[in-house]
Amino acid sequence: MILWKNLRKIFMLVLGIFIVCLSFTTRAAIVTSIKPIGFIAASIADGITLVKILLPEGASVHNYALRPSDIKHLQEADLVVWIGPEMESFMKKPLEKLPTQNTIEISQLPGVQSLLLLDQSHKESRYIDQLPNIENHIQFKNHEYHHYHNKYNMHLWMSPEIAIQIAMAIHSKLLGCMPENQDQLNANLQYFKASILTMNKTINQQLAPLKGSNYFVFHDAYTYFEKYYSLVPTGYFTINPEIQPGAQHLHYIQMQLLSKKIQCVFTEPQFQPIVVKAISRGTNVHFGILDPLGTEISISKDSYVKFLVKLSTQYRSCLQED
Ligand SMILES: [Zn+2]
Repeated sequence: MILWKNLRKIFMLVLGIFIVCLSFTTRAAIVTSIKPIGFIAASIADGITLVKILLPEGASVHNYALRPSDIKHLQEADLVVWIGPEMESFMKKPLEKLPTQNTIEISQLPGVQSLLLLDQSHKESRYIDQLPNIENHIQFKNHEYHHYHNKYNMHLWMSPEIAIQIAMAIHSKLLGCMPENQDQLNANLQYFKASILTMNKTINQQLAPLKGSNYFVFHDAYTYFEKYYSLVPTGYFTINPEIQPGAQHLHYIQMQLLSKKIQCVFTEPQFQPIVVKAISRGTNVHFGILDPLGTEISISKDSYVKFLVKLSTQYRSCLQED
């Protein structure tokens, strides 16, 4: 009986893969939510199939709402790669209708789970310790719990280690569906891994002199990148960019800026941070831009590496100013 059940399970699985794979032969279609995940997918699918990215330039993954055309892309996708409902809550419902074989939920990959880092609110960071009073602390924690429903930081595309895990998952999914492209897929994965190694050397050289720098970032998006390359921000304006920072938190940042120890305040292309300019007035602090979504980088097999190198250059160009 057990043997029969197992055989049946295997048969259904094989049938499922067969059905999923049929569509791959007729049209392109790996769909991703944000550009950096699309960069990784494009590297693995280079020369094999096309990648469609849902979020347009300048949109934030934190407050995006799907357009009817996006829903159509998701419905027609052969493979959807996303982080999970804690980050792209707007994709949860449409993806419930897709077979799970057609999706990769990055936060659930076994190789990724061991690499997850806690959200800032769930650890005793120097930032939380320095919040001026308990009321502000509670206000921040409530916002995060309400919005993220998860104790881990979900900006997973910022980690080169996790990027390799994502690449391997896409490789394995495509290989299952298109064994005839095995050589190309293997070569693409190897190329991706090798280019990450080369990139690490470049970025380590760029960032090594910046260790110990004092700076504020706009939101809590860079933890994986910073930990990987040994940078530690003094703090951030907001954990969730949809929510304006409270008055007391802004006062705390302003005091830090007036102390003249802070070298740089980083904003982002996706937000208009009037509040950042307002509290920085009269402090002589430098301004830089960090782009967590790879704006203006075109899709190619090298785009993920270009994205991280550009980020590194953005840190350097502000923190190296006198
Ligand atoms: Zn974010």
